[in-house]
Amino acid sequence: MALTVRQHLDAAALKDGLLLVDGQWRQARASRTWTHHHPATGEAIGDFAVADADDVDDAIRAARRAFDEGPWPSTRAGERSRLLRRYADLLRENADDLRARQALDNSVPLSFGTVYAGSVDVAADVFDHHAGWIDKAGGETLPPYQGGDHLAMTFREPVGVVAAVLPWNAPFLLFAQKLAPALAAGCTVVLKPSEYATFSVLRMVELLLEAGIPDGVVNVVTGPGDPTGEALITHPQVDKVSFTGSREVGRRIVEASAGTMKRVSLELGGKSPAIVFPDADVGLAGMTAMGMVTLGLSGQACVAHTRALVHRDAYDEFVGAAELIAGAVTYGDPFDPGVLSSPLINQRQLDRVLGFIDKGQEEGARLVTGGGRPDGDLSAGHFVQPTVFADVDNAMTIARQEIFGPVLTVVPFTDEDEAVRMANDSEYGLGAGVYTSDVRRAFRVAKRIRTGTVGINGFQVEPHLPFGGYKQSGLGREGGRSAFEAYTELKTVLLPLTDELM
Ligand code: NAD
Repeated sequence: MALTVRQHLDAAALKDGLLLVDGQWRQARASRTWTHHHPATGEAIGDFAVADADDVDDAIRAARRAFDEGPWPSTRAGERSRLLRRYADLLRENADDLRARQALDNSVPLSFGTVYAGSVDVAADVFDHHAGWIDKAGGETLPPYQGGDHLAMTFREPVGVVAAVLPWNAPFLLFAQKLAPALAAGCTVVLKPSEYATFSVLRMVELLLEAGIPDGVVNVVTGPGDPTGEALITHPQVDKVSFTGSREVGRRIVEASAGTMKRVSLELGGKSPAIVFPDADVGLAGMTAMGMVTLGLSGQACVAHTRALVHRDAYDEFVGAAELIAGAVTYGDPFDPGVLSSPLINQRQLDRVLGFIDKGQEEGARLVTGGGRPDGDLSAGHFVQPTVFADVDNAMTIARQEIFGPVLTVVPFTDEDEAVRMANDSEYGLGAGVYTSDVRRAFRVAKRIRTGTVGINGFQVEPHLPFGGYKQSGLGREGGRSAFEAYTELKTVLLPLTDELM
């Protein structure tokens, strides 16, 4: 496997990662660098600059100038829209190369590079989608409240300078979900990729320059949360922080925004339930839930249905189907087309997931399959076997905390009310699934579940649909018109038509 990674690394000819400030690539002022290691082999992939507070300040000032002095926010709609569509086409043309860079960065297999969260094509579609809002998302004309002869109108204006902070697990999609609406709305951006998926994002940015994005409109600072992320989210000249990542960092962003009352969008973690009734296609439900927890990202997916709540009459069949998928998932070289899943991203995450597996056994859950690291030549990577826990109580640690690894917990229930109560008994509220052949029950339960998205007999996230969390899974929505509007302020303008109201 080490050999294939090395070959692809040579083919990609990765350059050392630099910062992008006002259209110029440059080293960090303090010349500090970060070496990224491949999660499947431990090999060093490359170095990139670590931006400190001064570098971040330079980048934000460039974005501020490009916003305040323009012309980006006032560029003609047609021109902005054409640029975003041109960029979408460039992404599609470079999809193979981008997918290979992603596999080098985060070890997500090429086989997952066409599936929603890993797909360059979906990222391109998101840019096309938002290019279409530029000339459509207007305001309203409202009737006068007190009568009289005046006009009241609302306008959507760009929110200003956006700090966009990305996680590592779906760099293309999440880059697009933030940058496409921000740029369409007329904002300027300082982007910080995750330190675990920097090189693929830098290539996305190079293509943005190729598409003709003007200097200063998109700036990039690379590095870890401390010092780079922290300098970005605390900077007084940032108008909005758009973040996808863990709940802990999300909380820190809310705290840090208070000083200057920054706008904040947060897409955080989840502990999403899948409720399975006995009249469902139970085998399909078991395979879908276990597939979400293992395929592609190895359960490192915010919306994976990691908490299956299964009716006692369907329980054994469901657990059997999940076990079947666990045995079929293949791990290893991300460039091998037969490999279906990935290692965990780093040693910290590996230790964390193994710790949860120990905790599950200590607290009395039944380990059905998995529970350890695979044998053989995978020992240099952070691999964990697909793991199923049965006889889980919803109060156990493994049913409450986001594990972010290939671990499915299966909790039994007896009736609909109990299932809904347990589904909602969580600090998170990102996604959910309902599996039943009774359409009225499906909608009744979907309405009662407090999560941002509910899939009935399957789950799909799509670029034009709002996506986000209730409760501690986040603030605001990405996707569709709601995402575009999240990068705007709403202004009301009043115009008296006679002297009477003056
Ligand atoms: P993370 O929170 O560790 O890191 C995310 C980003 O925040 C990285 O760029 C990191 O460098 C940066 N960061 C860390 N500390 C910071 C600080 N103090 N200030 C500013 N930035 C800081 O998350 P991760 O490990 O990259 O991703 C996993 C998490 O992301 C999971 O909890 C997952 O559920 C969540 N996630 C959510 C969604 C969603 O759409 N809801 C999508 C993908 C991932």
